[in-house]
Amino acid sequence: MILNLQHKYKYKMKVLKFGGTSVGSIANMKMVKDIIADNEKKIVVLSAMSGTTNALVEISNFIKNDHIENANQNIEALHHKYVAVINDLLDDEALRQDVEIYVDSVFSFLKICASENHSQLLYNKIVAQGELLSTYIFTVYLNQEGLNAILLPALDFMRIDKTNDPDDFYIKQNLQRIIKEASPSNIYITQGFICLDAYGNIANLQRGGSDYTATIVGAAVNAEEVEIWTDIDGMHNNDPRFVENTHAISNLSFDEAAELAYFGAKILHPQTVMPAREANIPVRLKNTMDPASYGTLISIDFKGEGIKAIAAKDNITAIKIKSARMLLAHGFLKKVFEIFEKYETSIDMITTSEVAVSLTIDDDKNLVSILEELEKFSTVEVDKQQSIICLVGHLVVRHHETHRLFKVLQDISVRMISYGGSNNNISLLVNTNDKITALKCLNHYIFDGVTA
Ligand code: ASP
Ligand code: MG
Repeated sequence: MILNLQHKYKYKMKVLKFGGTSVGSIANMKMVKDIIADNEKKIVVLSAMSGTTNALVEISNFIKNDHIENANQNIEALHHKYVAVINDLLDDEALRQDVEIYVDSVFSFLKICASENHSQLLYNKIVAQGELLSTYIFTVYLNQEGLNAILLPALDFMRIDKTNDPDDFYIKQNLQRIIKEASPSNIYITQGFICLDAYGNIANLQRGGSDYTATIVGAAVNAEEVEIWTDIDGMHNNDPRFVENTHAISNLSFDEAAELAYFGAKILHPQTVMPAREANIPVRLKNTMDPASYGTLISIDFKGEGIKAIAAKDNITAIKIKSARMLLAHGFLKKVFEIFEKYETSIDMITTSEVAVSLTIDDDKNLVSILEELEKFSTVEVDKQQSIICLVGHLVVRHHETHRLFKVLQDISVRMISYGGSNNNISLLVNTNDKITALKCLNHYIFDGVTA
């Protein structure tokens, strides 16, 4: 029993993930250092410095389009930027030289990439360099500042399987072994975003994937909490880019947060909540620029009822499928779904009537083939440039203004509405041109307490 407790205690730690802006300037890196310099045991997951991944994607695009000169110019420009960063950040000459050698080797590698033929693997190798750079530089910086930080390379333990899902067993086994073998420390640093695929090649968890790394790592070490540090004070009740006076939501359940992340709240990578929910590890969203603010706590608890937040997701395609024969005749929906399944395209919203079924997708890569197959047995109408507006909260229907939704939206044409799919969500589909008006209107009635 005692042994068991000790074993558990050994891995009791927090996982803190810092996003691109948090490591995007020297001033911000210093703030991050202050945040992690308490004496608690932690794994720190870092993104690339802000702008770097985009720059690397652009370099990869130049290579793909055979604009090798442009690729090389951008590689040099980025190299200069990094040399300037390390010159400003590191005043210990020996440490600075060590980092300079590393940085130079990364940029020599990128130059070699620029002379190779483009492939998915080449892209993966190129975009991985951002997190490799940020973690190396930041670890050495912490060492210079007297903190015993140790770098744990993500590629030694992060792996996805053939279906691109995290290989939980492999990750857990390897991460726990690596921590056991590493010198004791309170601060382990690792790269977000990057991983190996099932064949051992370098891959990643898709753009924004460092958040996902953090909860995968959190679950693997059974962390007591995962903290996601960004440059905003938590998840907001509406999109601050379009609506004034939004505020951070203090508490969200895993389900509410998952709906919000999926339906457009840009602050979290959509899959982030899954590993935390499965392992029941609370996730706290915090602001590096304002560490004292409460942020948002995502946990198993439901606090409050009714609409807590509104989010919107763009680039949605709506497809209306009408059948000449009785639409909902036995087997019709199955036939429809099988086509989407065949093209690995997931459906977000669905509504039915006696004569038609409408549904939405956000990945229209295989739209042409899907339509061809649907047209074999139905008439199809497609509307692009749609947006899903999602109202999220535990028992959304209990909000005092929910019943007025139709009145609130009387000036906007709502293409579809989905209500009752879960207790946490009401979704509306509108033309993207109407999105901002709809967000403002809903915000006004729902959060300003205005009654129509
Ligand atoms: N650096 C990667 C990106 O910009 C991953 C991340 O920041 O989460 O997408
Ligand atoms: Mg992000």
